[in-house]
Amino acid sequence: MNKQHIIDRFIKYVTVDTESDPNNPAFPSTEKQWDLARILEQELKDIGMSEVTLDENCYLMATLPSNLDYEVPTIGFVAHIDTSPDFTGANVKPQIHENYDGQDIVLNAEENIVLSPSYFDDLLQYKGQTIITTDGTTLLGADDKAGVTEIVSAMEYLLQNPQIKHGKIRICFTPDEEVGKGAHMFDVEKFGAEWAYTMDGSQIGELEYENFNAAGAKVHIQGKIVHPGYAKGKMVNSMTIASEFISKLPKEEVPERTTGYEGFFHLHHMEGAVESTTLHYIIRDHDMDLFQQRKEFMLNVAKEMNEHLGKELIEVQIKDQYFNMKEKVTPVMHIVDIAEEVMNDMGITPIIKPIRGGTDGSQLSYKGLPCPNIFAGGHNFHGRYEYVPAESIVKASQVIVGIAEKVGQKFA
Ligand SMILES: [Zn+2]
Repeated sequence: MNKQHIIDRFIKYVTVDTESDPNNPAFPSTEKQWDLARILEQELKDIGMSEVTLDENCYLMATLPSNLDYEVPTIGFVAHIDTSPDFTGANVKPQIHENYDGQDIVLNAEENIVLSPSYFDDLLQYKGQTIITTDGTTLLGADDKAGVTEIVSAMEYLLQNPQIKHGKIRICFTPDEEVGKGAHMFDVEKFGAEWAYTMDGSQIGELEYENFNAAGAKVHIQGKIVHPGYAKGKMVNSMTIASEFISKLPKEEVPERTTGYEGFFHLHHMEGAVESTTLHYIIRDHDMDLFQQRKEFMLNVAKEMNEHLGKELIEVQIKDQYFNMKEKVTPVMHIVDIAEEVMNDMGITPIIKPIRGGTDGSQLSYKGLPCPNIFAGGHNFHGRYEYVPAESIVKASQVIVGIAEKVGQKFA
């Protein structure tokens, strides 16, 4: 695969602003996502993809037909076109640093913004490679335009190299992943794949099929305001009750003190006055039983406190958000094994670890499309220090080609 061709393609995508908007209920959440969707629609037709469709919700699908004379499962590859609203994605000016020497990379001399391996030590594994960075004023959008680049490049490569045998491949580019809605309008039936992979992981080698079970909890506490000078026996300060509630949750089980498979309660926002206080939590655990126990625990703390207060002053509302895809992937574990084998064949060390978050793939898995996540190659997502080695984009493209080929061989 031609590295420069792939870099050019990536640059073309990241210079189109596709930032999504968490506060807009419209779908997609920003009109500008159509800009890239339409560019990609044309490009997929130009490279010779079949059944190219861009639907009314901005989902772009296409087919690479099988070139085998026997039936194998249809597989899919998925990436998202939007970028994170955490940091601006307008006027991205990618900087290309060839043959990286292992030293600091000055992103912006004027503003003294430096990407340094003394802080971001992952950089050192890419010595000698071509590093693509921002100019320090925007995010890069390798999340997930690296994934988009990889899928298009792999399809193009397979179309140009018909001697590589593969079954039917479906691809889909989705809007609004960064605002948690990337899977919402995904037409799994129309996609018609037996399983798929999101190309949306970080560093080279990542292969993920476990993510959190997730819920949001709103804890509302009712108080009573009275003149503080005459409040004895009358005032109920909801903030005081709130602080007691907070202190009854396990202090070690918070994001800043947990890692790996350890779950947590995370108080991420609160607003309060004497009269009323609301605590906003997220609850996370990879293990379904522990996840249920966490929710129970929170409800019990409220129940006991209410009993003690003699009144129902604390009300807890818990809403499930997403679930661990492991439950849907382990029954079809060969889909992970195939990706792992391909990486091993290519000399890439698979990094298999639980995601401490969710992916579109977890929602897709629960919609009937088992969907592990594969590295797209970037680092430091959602900010000005985001970068991606061009070599990782090339490798991920080759992993896609390898998976397509391996599925053809496995099901021969
Ligand atoms: Zn992403």
